[in-house]
Amino acid sequence: MHPIIIVGTGLAGYNLAKAFRKLDQGTPLVMITADDGRHYSKPMLSTGFSKGKSAEALAMAEATTMATELNATILTHTDVQSIDPHAHQLKTDDRVLTYRKLVLATGAAPIRLALEGDAKDAVFSINDLTDYGRFRAALPETAHVAIMGAGLIGCEFANDLHAGDYRTTVIAPSSQVMPGLLPTEAAGSVRSALEALGVSFRLGQAATGVFRAEDGVQLTLDNGDSVYADIVISAVGLRPRTPLAEEAGLAVNKGIVVNRLLQTSHPDIFAMGDCAEVDGHVLLYVMPLMACARALAQTLAGEPTEVLWPHACYRENACLPGGDGTASSGGQGAVAAGTRRCRRQGAVSGR
Ligand SMILES: Cc1cc2nc3c(=O)[nH]c(=O)nc-3n(C[C@H](O)[C@H](O)[C@H](O)COP(=O)(O)OP(=O)(O)OC[C@H]3O[C@@H](n4cnc5c(N)ncnc54)[C@H](O)[C@@H]3O)c2cc1C
Repeated sequence: MHPIIIVGTGLAGYNLAKAFRKLDQGTPLVMITADDGRHYSKPMLSTGFSKGKSAEALAMAEATTMATELNATILTHTDVQSIDPHAHQLKTDDRVLTYRKLVLATGAAPIRLALEGDAKDAVFSINDLTDYGRFRAALPETAHVAIMGAGLIGCEFANDLHAGDYRTTVIAPSSQVMPGLLPTEAAGSVRSALEALGVSFRLGQAATGVFRAEDGVQLTLDNGDSVYADIVISAVGLRPRTPLAEEAGLAVNKGIVVNRLLQTSHPDIFAMGDCAEVDGHVLLYVMPLMACARALAQTLAGEPTEVLWPHACYRENACLPGGDGTASSGGQGAVAAGTRRCRRQGAVSGR
């Protein structure tokens, strides 16, 4: 029997595998990840500095432990390079695997600004445990950290680093923090509260370059000013990882296009989490992906089930990456999501 293959071991991949194993203990399950497959909670990456947590301390389980717990084969440090939907096969660096059903849970990649200058290596994006470990290793004690991006994640990093005794300056072209997410008044309150703690803001100013300076780096701004810092975090947004799906001929828009069954334009390939655009909505939050994991687990176990959540969750653009806003967190608790058994049983081809 060919396995179900899940590409990605982030919160989407692992939560789907856990939910599936509650319903089906026997079907062979293979998980593939480009990283080391450690299980961790990504929201903890922007609360780890105040708690003094290393990347190792944030990891909840090694891939080998997850493989045992999930009765799955987990291939780590393995890049899926292409998919052949008609042959039901995918290709990694060193092998071809055949699947019965395929789930893409490949997440979203940080957007990188095209900055000029010779200090681009001092600019860090923190989007997974490895990024977090790398940044921590490079972070000098009592450093001044410049944060590009005033979205929720940029603000969370400012707050967390400040609480961890680092000086922070937030730089963004928007005139307020969390544009598209908070109304002006609420954004003003967040900014004032962070300023009262000691966080500095350079709003309405975009970074244009990053250069080596005598003692750290110089960030040049589009109004001619400069900010001097020891190290830089880029939190300017995330873009769903779609090339793998696109090259396989699957429908792609902002994310990998799926219906409420999480089914792509090919009936045996599904997508969920940050890489997916579910019924027109890219929702880069934990809560929606948990609802998707529960629904898709049921579908993969033979009970086609649609994911449901209230309209308020996907207010247009509230959750979208781009501009200077980041893939905003804060979705936890904001979304009450559920599932609905699908009356269109024929919509998913049977196992
Ligand atoms: C700093 C930060 C703080 C956050 N805080 C919150 C919060 O407080 N509340 C909230 O609701 N949300 C928050 N979020 C968003 C939330 O964490 C994400 O929506 C969620 O973790 C995405 O999980 P994922 O599994 O879809 O993607 P990821 O965790 O990015 O996993 C993607 C997986 O796909 C693998 N992969 C990708 N391409 C390939 C390939 N070609 N071959 C093999 N493997 C591949 C990767 O190796 C990885 O295993 C935060 C995000 C960040 C960055």
